[in-house]
Amino acid sequence: MFENTNNSKTKLSELGEFGLIDHLTQHFKIKHTTSTLKSIGDDAAVLKHENEIVVTTDLLVEGVHFDLAYMPLKHLGYKAVMVNLSDVYAMNAQAKQITVSIACSNRFTVEALEELYAGISAACEVYNVDVVGGDTTSSVKGMQISITAIGEASKENITYRNGAKPNDLLVVSGDLGGAFLGLKILEREKEVFKVNPNAQPDLSEYTYLVQRQLKPEARKDIVELLAALDVKPTAMIDISDGLSSEMMHLCKNSKVGANLFEDKLPLDPKVISTCEEFKLDSTTVVLNGGEDYELLFTIDQNDFDKIKANPHLSVIGHMCDASDGIHLISQMNTKIPMKARGWSAIEDEE
Ligand code: ADP
Ligand code: MG
Repeated sequence: MFENTNNSKTKLSELGEFGLIDHLTQHFKIKHTTSTLKSIGDDAAVLKHENEIVVTTDLLVEGVHFDLAYMPLKHLGYKAVMVNLSDVYAMNAQAKQITVSIACSNRFTVEALEELYAGISAACEVYNVDVVGGDTTSSVKGMQISITAIGEASKENITYRNGAKPNDLLVVSGDLGGAFLGLKILEREKEVFKVNPNAQPDLSEYTYLVQRQLKPEARKDIVELLAALDVKPTAMIDISDGLSSEMMHLCKNSKVGANLFEDKLPLDPKVISTCEEFKLDSTTVVLNGGEDYELLFTIDQNDFDKIKANPHLSVIGHMCDASDGIHLISQMNTKIPMKARGWSAIEDEE
């Protein structure tokens, strides 16, 4: 994770809007010299791509999508980029450029925005993306950050949500549930801190879960892996809102049903033990937790041999006719109709 460093407090007004933009963006270097023809500094960026272009935007609002009480600004910058890149990868495309728009109140200092940009910059280095523009403005209250990502893929490789066929296998990358539990841990520590501000939280036991929440990684590697394995998914979506609702989206868009096997769900041991600690059902957490930023996709059964031994991929079910519905096959081998429920559903249960 990241270390926090600079403790000085310079007011945003001391630099002015143009000074601030220059200050924050001066270190960005262009990586894609053939596709980024003009980046920050003119009225618009100029790009030139050989292939189909994918474009996606997300807006993050303080108090709604993030809480700065436990989200360091550097992590917020990193995560804001990940949220967008994940959508590009979910199209089986590679991200090339982003724009970054920020509104913030005068409660934020130049150093605070430096932290945010350090996170954005780190993400761009790791994921090989150019920052090509944005907008900066003041807000009456809080911070809002909107990133637009631009990616590229050949026409044949672009993968939509609507291509799944009955008998296709349902596959997910990585493991699930960690980001939700990471948030639970952070919320618990925030409550402890309110009661006793001198309490020093020891989160070392939960590093993996907290990292899944504060520093998620979008699955660029899975897009590369699928290309290397010569597997073209029939449909794909990223898991931002929880497995069950994303699975419903895939089924609805592809006009198919699905069977999901509870005993195939990929769970990290830390997810299992923390669910026990919080008295939560791990399947419920995996189905509804959200924010894991893994990729959920379907493949033709003939491609099974290409992916079967891969440690990054789990086959968790298969698609069927729409008339057969969408079911979870439990460990006890009972068939439970699935409902799409988001993040808040788990909270409502408590
Ligand atoms: P305009 O008046 O045309 O909106 P700005 O003064 O807002 O131009 O921005 C000047 C340049 O800086 C533009 O290239 C713009 O894309 C870029 N820019 C502005 N804000 C940001 C930001 N937060 N991050 C990255 N680039 C930015
Ligand atoms: Mg502007």
